[in-house]
Amino acid sequence: MTTIDDLPIRDDLRGQTPYGAPQLDVAVRLNTNEHAFAVPQPVVEEMRKRLDAELADLNRYPDREAVGLRADLASYLGHGLGFESVWAANGSNEVQQQLLQAFGGPGRTALGFGPSYSMHPLLAAGTGTRWIGALRDPDFGLRADAAVAEIHRHDPDLVFLCSPNNPTGTALDPEVIDAVLGAARGMVLVDEAYFEYARTGTRSAIELLPGHPRLVVTRTMSKAFGFAGGRLGYFAADPAVVDAVQLVRLPYHLSALTQAAARAAVAQSAALLATVEQIKVQRDRIVDVLRGRGVEVADSDANFVLFRTADDQKSAWQAFLDRGVLIRDVGLRGWLRVTAGTESETTAFLNAAEEIL
Ligand code: PMP
Repeated sequence: MTTIDDLPIRDDLRGQTPYGAPQLDVAVRLNTNEHAFAVPQPVVEEMRKRLDAELADLNRYPDREAVGLRADLASYLGHGLGFESVWAANGSNEVQQQLLQAFGGPGRTALGFGPSYSMHPLLAAGTGTRWIGALRDPDFGLRADAAVAEIHRHDPDLVFLCSPNNPTGTALDPEVIDAVLGAARGMVLVDEAYFEYARTGTRSAIELLPGHPRLVVTRTMSKAFGFAGGRLGYFAADPAVVDAVQLVRLPYHLSALTQAAARAAVAQSAALLATVEQIKVQRDRIVDVLRGRGVEVADSDANFVLFRTADDQKSAWQAFLDRGVLIRDVGLRGWLRVTAGTESETTAFLNAAEEIL
């Protein structure tokens, strides 16, 4: 049987394993930080109507620049943004890949602060960008002086920040991002995939866009919008950054169906985001209950919680799975991550946790 090793694959991809959480058929799935609630019926109807209007025209390519969708996303974000400051692709992973294609690549470097989203280094690897892995503070925060010191040390072409950070849930103050912008020569990418779950008062890096043309803030509809299956991510930045990614994007990368369904979802954002508060209640419940039982838990501004297990987190992960609860081992020794689900899913997790932890 032929294996990858028999193929003339790039040397730097040899021996690598693809990204992916196990997709197991388990009753309670709390492992990939999806929004727990199904798309509400009125939103389904709106999508059906808009998809139907596209079907007879599928012989034609879609709007290559997705201007209507970008305008909708810009008004959702507010801050006075217009479509020319917003770019969209099939998930924020693709948006970030395009940014690396445009601003990274062979001979260039990207710096990130772990533990953080494991796709950032993989996207760097896929685009031939050398990844420099610095560390967050021991409490999973990131102090401005520590971040600035790493930037001075490595002088990267791109800096990746993630706020609220996956897998720790930690949000960053715009002051930290401002300090990073002041120190960095290259692009500064702030991944705000979980921003809608942040606690009241958390400020978005979007505030810093005026006067900072090297700042890019990425968002996604995969989390709070409950549109993970629709695949739609986007960023807000100076319009020149949008011009730059157009040099590397595939023509017609966003299908007419994706654009139509996403526009329906944005038009119905109030209905979709209505359940975000319920998820935040379950998130805070996980934090409070586990802490009440003496379990160490990271503060979370996201729809998931990172908590302490025995040093061998793999066997704890298996013990949850044995009880029908799928959570995430992010490869952090002694820690596991659980997504806040519906009330009953969260109860199932907490009941299992009581036996295991
Ligand atoms: N950024 C972060 C921090 C994430 O956790 C995820 C999803 N796991 C993504 C980006 C990518 O999401 P998507 O491609 O679905 O937008």
